[in-house]
Amino acid sequence: MNKKDLAFYFIGKKYNFDIRSYYSFVLENQYWDNEKIQEFQFERIKNILNHAQDNVPHYNDLFSKIGFKPNYISDIDDLKKLPILRKGDINKDFNSFLSKDFKQYNPVDRYTGGTTGSAFHLYNDMNSWAVNWATKIRTFSWGGYNFGTDRLGVMAGGSLLPTKKMSPKSMLWRYINNYYSMPITQMNDDLLDVYVKNIIKQKLKFLRGYPSAIYTLALFMNEKGITIPLNAIFTTAEMLHEHQRQLIEERFNCKCFDQYGCADGMGGANECNHHNGLHVNIETSYMEIVDANGNEVGNNEEGEVVLTSFNDKAMPLIRYAPGDYAIKSTESCSCGRTLPRIKKIIGRTSDLIMLSNGIKLNGLSIPFEAWSDKIERFQIVQTREDTVEVVLIKKEGFNERDEKQVMEMMSYNCGKGINIKVNYVNDIPLPKSGKFRYVISLVN
Ligand SMILES: [Zn+2]
Repeated sequence: MNKKDLAFYFIGKKYNFDIRSYYSFVLENQYWDNEKIQEFQFERIKNILNHAQDNVPHYNDLFSKIGFKPNYISDIDDLKKLPILRKGDINKDFNSFLSKDFKQYNPVDRYTGGTTGSAFHLYNDMNSWAVNWATKIRTFSWGGYNFGTDRLGVMAGGSLLPTKKMSPKSMLWRYINNYYSMPITQMNDDLLDVYVKNIIKQKLKFLRGYPSAIYTLALFMNEKGITIPLNAIFTTAEMLHEHQRQLIEERFNCKCFDQYGCADGMGGANECNHHNGLHVNIETSYMEIVDANGNEVGNNEEGEVVLTSFNDKAMPLIRYAPGDYAIKSTESCSCGRTLPRIKKIIGRTSDLIMLSNGIKLNGLSIPFEAWSDKIERFQIVQTREDTVEVVLIKKEGFNERDEKQVMEMMSYNCGKGINIKVNYVNDIPLPKSGKFRYVISLVN
């Protein structure tokens, strides 16, 4: 037994699960046929619904009020008889979402950030977290990463790389995962220079992190004419813009594997080595993509992500909408994996700006890509109901004509009666989490 096996053994023993078997399980089921996936998910849904009915006050009340009986459901679609749950509903009566036998699941405290400071608190079962972890390692394997032998450079902040003092558990975890940490909260050219040297020195072949952070590194390398060939890059937690993907892939001479993850609801979807959409994890939760009436959308249609977490027994979230939007795909992937698919994540509720003229602007859909060689970074800030500010770090060569075009593009997207301003800055500071926000509304 090597050191890593030993660490696995202790983690499994302490929390009562066999993490290695989770990993073999997710490797196997990525090729299950559709019927088997449905059967598996139906059983998991029934299990969590029964648990919620018996142990969680909110669901016990809800089910009896609407006459919903988990034992009598015959189909996954019966789930749609339940209302969609939002953060606000949970915050109103937080304790009613906790299971009677809460403690026995080793719940882990989680906070998901909000730009306006409205952090959302929830608990994930240790077991749920472990299943989710196995799906992450599976995605890394799609990029050629061998768990146990390969090192993973992690360029992030916040929840991926906590900056506060680590607990022995997190330290053990980091050891098992063989991370090489590159914190991003105070990036400057000196630090980027150190990171470049260390990636080479450590012979890293895999990098994971926030797109904005890895892009910043790629920009620095581009300026210096540096290329470091890697095997794969895993981007997560933010929107990966096309111009970012292009430069990152060029500077590291490998492909980006984009990931979507959501700890509240335990949803996850990941790009495979065919890079034409994302495969949805079937082990952590059931993911619906629904229209405004809560019905499933069709192929290539846009809808809201709704999640039912399978393994969160301490605080079950059933038909929970984290505020993310995606385009569904029902087409099969040429990689042969049968996991359900989405074409694209198109943003979060927090990326939407409600303007005084009634337009709901998705800030991420504005094509700033066109100026990627002239703009280093941009941010769209709604300062008043009728005013939108474009904050820009411009590069050399950005001229008056470009500014005029940016204004025209913004006016076109925002519609009539909205004031557009351009504000040039030298830096756009990162929030505490290190996650860059392209869209911010200062209006309630
Ligand atoms: Zn695929």
